[in-house]
Amino acid sequence: MTAPIIEIRDVSKAYDVGRPALADLNLDVQEGDALAVLGPSGSGKSTLLNLIAGLDKPSRGSVTVAGLRVDELTETASAEYRRARIGMVFQFFNLLDDLTVEDNVLLPAQLSGIPRGKAQLRAAELLDRLGIARHTRAFPGRLSGGERQRVAVARALMNRPALLLADEPTGALDSVAAADVRALLIELNADGQTILLVTHDVALARSCATRTLELVDGKVFRDERRAVR
Ligand code: ADP
Repeated sequence: MTAPIIEIRDVSKAYDVGRPALADLNLDVQEGDALAVLGPSGSGKSTLLNLIAGLDKPSRGSVTVAGLRVDELTETASAEYRRARIGMVFQFFNLLDDLTVEDNVLLPAQLSGIPRGKAQLRAAELLDRLGIARHTRAFPGRLSGGERQRVAVARALMNRPALLLADEPTGALDSVAAADVRALLIELNADGQTILLVTHDVALARSCATRTLELVDGKVFRDERRAVR
């Protein structure tokens, strides 16, 4: 078996006040998994996502993603790691409303210095695959929530990330759009994309995840793998 794509060893994260957000956490995530992280508000889900994305550092322990010690990166190296290895999708899409759909999707490639022509081919391929090619020249404000989330997913996939991180990706969507985004995530995972998502949406976890991890008070309360999705 290949090394896990995420290896978290004895990680604790404490803030100045209150109990630790994460306590002695150990977690291996295999390539190809779709891991849904569940748990009540304040259980440490966002903290875990931030540590994996290199946006925050643990107080103790190590976080290794795709062979890289993320907890030891400098700020510049951490930004480069996110650009090159991680795709991120957020509850409120985080698209730039002054840019067209295409230019939003091109951003990560542009920041990585990929030639525009080559990046445009990749963007066109992604927009086509995600069923939003007709909106290439539109501005995000004209799109529905579900379509905006599709644009956000296209942008996240632009640099072929080893890991797609999603923070409540259906949290701002109506039930039809949420079902659409669920279907999209399932399809991406079936094509081999490793996904880690944080959600309150039990339907999303149930339908999309190959494994669910439930946190309570910064600890793993339940860890279940599903043979068949
Ligand atoms: P969740 O995403 O599951 O709602 P979080 O990871 O956001 O949980 O928070 C876990 C715990 O850490 C909570 O008790 C929260 O109040 C605390 N916490 C999170 N971020 C900070 C911060 N920047 N400063 C102090 N405490 C924080």
